Amino acid sequence: MYAFLVWDESWNSFNNCYLLLDNNNINLIDSGKEEHSHFLFSALKKKGISNSDITHFIATHGHKDHIGGIQFSGEIEGYIHNQDLELIPENLRNKLKMSLPDKSSTVSNLECVLLGHHTKGSVLLYQRGSKVLFCGDHICFFGEQLSGNVVDIGGLEREKYKQFVSDWSQNEEMRKQHNFSLFIEGLKKINQYDVEYLCTGHGVVLKGKINEFISDLLEFEQ
Ligand SMILES: [Zn+2]
Repeated sequence: MYAFLVWDESWNSFNNCYLLLDNNNINLIDSGKEEHSHFLFSALKKKGISNSDITHFIATHGHKDHIGGIQFSGEIEGYIHNQDLELIPENLRNKLKMSLPDKSSTVSNLECVLLGHHTKGSVLLYQRGSKVLFCGDHICFFGEQLSGNVVDIGGLEREKYKQFVSDWSQNEEMRKQHNFSLFIEGLKKINQYDVEYLCTGHGVVLKGKINEFISDLLEFEQ
């Protein structure tokens, strides 16, 4: 499994893409933006993988910074949850014909659960053997450089994120506007898994004590 963090100057963040090698499957999870796909594909090339080698693509959700890059892939089997079909631009429709389940296993035995908070079709994907959980933008570290390594305990990011959720939980208007209770429901779904690595949509890949981190966030439920 590889994580590729593509720096995006336009919003001062990383767009994360993940590659999962499983027997004959070469699965790409999220692709970054169309205009950055040459960065992803040149990084893949260094691992001996060309864009036409990718067999499956899975979108954690339908925003363009997660699906745009597949415009230049070869023939792929592309998966997205039905609830996000409306977000897909015309030119990518023929690449995303397969639908992800609400709660069941999908490509390469990844377990898929609908979260539906960040977008209606946002999902989590979990690989049991490695205890890796992909949460898309349900949780992400947006708008900053890394404070440490790509895969890191991410102490600073965790603290900032806890503060963000704490502020959110105390602001009645924000709670309503951004459906705080649905966010909390999603955290509970994430926390049903034993997680060692949390792969978010943007920024550091968190390693270690993930369930502890999620439980800390759940304390803001009130
Ligand atoms: Zn998004």
